[in-house]
Amino acid sequence: MLSGLRSTVAQQARGFATSNIAVDGFTGAVGNTPLIYLKSLSEQTGSKIYGKAEFQNPGGSIKDRAAVGIVLDAEEKGRIKPGGTIVEGTAGNTGIGLAHVCRARGYKCVIFMPNTQSQEKIDLLSMLGAEVHPVPAVPYENPLNYNHQAKEYAEKLENAIWTDQFDNTANAYAHYISTGPEIWEQTKGDIDGFICSTGTGGTLAGVGKYLKEKSPKTQIWLADPPGSVLYQYVSTGGQLVERSGSSITEGIGQGRVTNNLGTFINDLTGALHIPDEKSISMVYQLLDSEGLYVGASSALNVVAAVELAQKLGKGSKVVTVLCDGAHRYQSRLFSKTWLESKELGEAIPESLRKYAVL
Ligand code: PMP
Repeated sequence: MLSGLRSTVAQQARGFATSNIAVDGFTGAVGNTPLIYLKSLSEQTGSKIYGKAEFQNPGGSIKDRAAVGIVLDAEEKGRIKPGGTIVEGTAGNTGIGLAHVCRARGYKCVIFMPNTQSQEKIDLLSMLGAEVHPVPAVPYENPLNYNHQAKEYAEKLENAIWTDQFDNTANAYAHYISTGPEIWEQTKGDIDGFICSTGTGGTLAGVGKYLKEKSPKTQIWLADPPGSVLYQYVSTGGQLVERSGSSITEGIGQGRVTNNLGTFINDLTGALHIPDEKSISMVYQLLDSEGLYVGASSALNVVAAVELAQKLGKGSKVVTVLCDGAHRYQSRLFSKTWLESKELGEAIPESLRKYAVL
């Protein structure tokens, strides 16, 4: 057995990841996630498909990177001083990442979230010491929307900032300086396509911009769920339609071009629309064939990566991100009743329905 101190040689011999350098607190532990070769899907398509294991971040999701990036940027710019308050409007992972960073760096954390969110998320944020304000789930245009309430709350306090994950470009920059370079190194620069979905757009724009600068031939694609307007926007060359419909894929989908996406949206090669039936089926497939327990946005990303690999042809190398684990959604994604309420029970191949045990 490996002892407390990791042995690089023993790890390599067993094929484990080999980073063995001590890191500085929570923020130092974010990033440097493995790039997982998805064997069964790669063999099925004759391409090489990889998922970046963002669920391995210490706060459990890709949003730890944005949380660290935004807070360190605010510290550097003198926008926040020790003992200050960090306020955000978020339905989930960003809040959890920020709550961790706040505990680790001595800030108070206040989170405004729509009152439709799961009790698990509210409980976790509270356990991490955040002050949670559930507010009515109303559209962005309404002044009572959780984002506007967060902004106003921060403006009234001394030594407080609203982190503004959608339009604060320290978010995309965190991916430009970490996720992008990691993928470039892990693929040794041999990458034909990168595709992922967007919430704030930080991941897509940050990673995409870095990869494009390194290798202009690498195609960058958007994967979009139902209820988002960006698929339409990209495929029509800039037509913004009204938002309608919804998806089971929490944390993604967007009604506007955020500052984090910015003009990078014009550099995308294209967009794929992925229906919920395919995403939920992939949640189960990834579990069954790859042993990966991931959330629906990760599954949607993998469906999109497979479709992109098919477009690019046999032998192509495509990377996507596995945003978080299924734990935060398991009472839904693995519940027969919930799946039936969304008319998704039949979307899962019969042989895999045995995993829906809740
Ligand atoms: N997946 C999940 C589960 C998320 O919470 C988010 C962020 N809301 C994303 C994907 C999208 O990441 P980004 O904000 O960088 O576009």
